[in-house]
Amino acid sequence: MSAKKANLSGELKKYFGFSTFKGQQEQIIENLLGGKDIFVLMPTGGGKSLCYQLPALISEGTAIVVSPLIALMKNQVDAVNGLSSDDGVAHVLNSSLNKTQTKQVFDDIKGGKTKLLYVAPESLIKDDYLDFLKEVKISFVAIDEAHCISEWGHDFRPEYRNLKSIIDKIADVPVIALTATATPKVQDDIQKTLGMNDALVFKESFNRPNLYYEVRPKVNVDKEIVKFISQHKGKSGIVYCLSRRKVEEFAQLLQVNGINALPYHAGLDQKIRVANQDKFLMEEVDVIVATIAFGMGIDKPDVRFVIHYDFPKSLESYYQETGRAGRDGGEGYCLAFYDPKDIEKLEKFLAQKPVSEREIGLQLLNEVVGYAETSMSRRQYILYYFGENFDPVKGDGADMCDNSSNPPKLKDATADLTKV
Ligand code: ADP
Ligand code: MG
Repeated sequence: MSAKKANLSGELKKYFGFSTFKGQQEQIIENLLGGKDIFVLMPTGGGKSLCYQLPALISEGTAIVVSPLIALMKNQVDAVNGLSSDDGVAHVLNSSLNKTQTKQVFDDIKGGKTKLLYVAPESLIKDDYLDFLKEVKISFVAIDEAHCISEWGHDFRPEYRNLKSIIDKIADVPVIALTATATPKVQDDIQKTLGMNDALVFKESFNRPNLYYEVRPKVNVDKEIVKFISQHKGKSGIVYCLSRRKVEEFAQLLQVNGINALPYHAGLDQKIRVANQDKFLMEEVDVIVATIAFGMGIDKPDVRFVIHYDFPKSLESYYQETGRAGRDGGEGYCLAFYDPKDIEKLEKFLAQKPVSEREIGLQLLNEVVGYAETSMSRRQYILYYFGENFDPVKGDGADMCDNSSNPPKLKDATADLTKV
């Protein structure tokens, strides 16, 4: 055991250059290599990828990594390929490849070169892929962003539903499922759907002690936000709005008020969207005004504030979106504007949906309203929602919300607010 431990640390150093494991990474990896099914619940930035990347690199055969977004896959493949001196140990298999490229990937797998194969669930069901994967040595299957399996999650993907039967067809190997969504409902759903009731569960705290949570009534919201951002001039921040139209309008309003801001939503031309995102990452622009299309897989450590112009549809979404602030452990101010009328609008929208979707949607909205209207510690409320107990007096970050303390002192606004 100790020899194996020393060995794992050596491999960690060799491939990733890190001297120590983060959180429970080492136990997770040991158990996966020992053939166990594993379920990992760890907040964003916790280091989930390494839990399957390292064992994949040191195992015989190819690990299949199921991931929901082509963009995410590409990032990871590039990152993994940068780690190893052997060229191309990670590959993507999806609809973006042509025949020649697909054949190349198949050859690399057969030749034992590919240690990690990233696939989208909808690719995995293709007959020619399935037939091929059945014939090669698979080390294990990793299901990243596993909450996509659950309708209670914030990013449900119907294609994730059938994963279990597909994996069973490919190989009898250990499965590791990973997610940053930890509500007991989602957790239960994932384990049931994947047939992982006997899996070892590794859950880390979802507390983000450096984030400050505040909810304000949605009155003079434009002016309030302009003022807030002016007080944080030069710092990176995200403003979330529900509609594309609002995103465009508000980005313009910020610009008119001398704030270096750009819009981001799925309706923008691909080139503009990518350019705006890159400008934010490269610090050419301070503020991104965005719909929820922005953020997944974006790793900017020094985002100093996340503002919700509109309240999100669930507390998970809220947690994920605010979680993009303060990743480096520094200041992260999470400010949300609440208007019960916005919730009514969302309810009306849900009324047009099929019954099951509507019921889930309404329950999620109830939790959002509860959070917005609570007078208890907001951190305690969020963590309770994730099935975690939090001491609102002594817990880490206990005074970091509007209900628990006076808000931090803000500098005087210097910007000209007359244009709002
Ligand atoms: P998650 O998928 O849980 O959101 P990632 O896998 O993207 O998190 O990892 C978040 C960051 O943590 C990455 O920059 C990664 O390089 C870093 N990281 C992971 N494991 C370690 C470690 N053992 N030591 C130092 N940094 C680590
Ligand atoms: Mg991840």
